[in-house]
Amino acid sequence: MFKKFLFVLFISFTLIAGEKPYVLLISFDGFRWDYLDRGLSPNIEKFYNDGIRAMSLQPCFPSKTFPNHYSIITGMYPENHGIISNYFKDIKRNQVYRLGDSAQVRNSEWYLGEAFWETAERNRIKTASYFWPGSEVHLSYRHPSYFMEYNQQTPYKDRVDGVINWLKLPKEKRPHFITLYFEDTDNTGHDFGPDSKEVNESIVRLDNIVKYLDESLKSINFRDSINIIIVSDHGMTSTPKEKIINIESIVPDFGCKFIEPGPVMKIECDINKIEAVYQKLNQNENHYRVFRREDVPDYFHYSKNPFISPIIIVADLGYSLVDNRTMKRSVEKWSLGNHGFDNHASDMHGIFVANGSMFRKNYKTGSVLNIDIYPLLCKIFDIFPRANIDGDLSRIKFILKEE
Ligand SMILES: [Zn+2]
Repeated sequence: MFKKFLFVLFISFTLIAGEKPYVLLISFDGFRWDYLDRGLSPNIEKFYNDGIRAMSLQPCFPSKTFPNHYSIITGMYPENHGIISNYFKDIKRNQVYRLGDSAQVRNSEWYLGEAFWETAERNRIKTASYFWPGSEVHLSYRHPSYFMEYNQQTPYKDRVDGVINWLKLPKEKRPHFITLYFEDTDNTGHDFGPDSKEVNESIVRLDNIVKYLDESLKSINFRDSINIIIVSDHGMTSTPKEKIINIESIVPDFGCKFIEPGPVMKIECDINKIEAVYQKLNQNENHYRVFRREDVPDYFHYSKNPFISPIIIVADLGYSLVDNRTMKRSVEKWSLGNHGFDNHASDMHGIFVANGSMFRKNYKTGSVLNIDIYPLLCKIFDIFPRANIDGDLSRIKFILKEE
């Protein structure tokens, strides 16, 4: 009798509390929105035909890797979450944030936003990350319960196996939210351009990984219990060698520093020379736009952060901004593809596909914004998002099944 009472109590408790969902968020770095239409990804097609496909996922400006992965996971524009580029400086502290510098990448002081795993853990939801920018920060309450230090050499199947092993943990240790990351299409997109056979081979490899993940989840009886979202941080466009603009040759005599050559170049120089440099670049505008930090158009959401340089130059799609040094280097090795340009250009858009019991089925929608993913995750887990985010649930919640 007592046992029966306990059982009824248990059932009622479970019904009241509700089972927490499981969500896997996957990023295919640099997977442009239209790569899905090349007829090379039958497994991803099956995945979204049984779920959701947005026409594209619009990144934030600049359409670069770290700013956008961190926007996806915080729901904030880069100017607000702090990771304004893959390389930037805090002049006052005399410190540089740079992708290759693992000590700085793990220094939590750069990261102003709250990542979803932090929001989730505060709500007693265990989280894990098999790679994601920002997941390795040193402060224990700011990283997931389980995370891996980034290593590009880790074979793709090992990454999936790592996720499967987390899902095999006993219930009380098992993470409910997991991220997973693959760099394939970004690497080949840069090296060979978005229209190359090498990018097509990357698409096929990633499609096979989706199949492997599907089979692995089925083998542990988890496929029907997990909601999977596949995104990319940005797209890719061709950057032919003929479309190079040497910015240093326009302003050679001001002692400027030219930061991050490529689609978006930042210029720093003596404070008294800034206006003159700006005017010179403005008069010579040709296949680029130059802005003072405070005049960057509102739609870029890129002026509030003090680490943004006083002058920002945005190249037209496909053009590359260089200085004398990179001009020389580019003769030897040139990237045939790049990203970072105006985030409204469709070539810069990534993918958003999702599948699982929380999502509508066989549903296609237009473009969605990557800052809206954080509030979407909060809705899925039924927890409160941070109040200061830029994302907006109302722009994306229609992709969820009606309650
Ligand atoms: Zn990227």
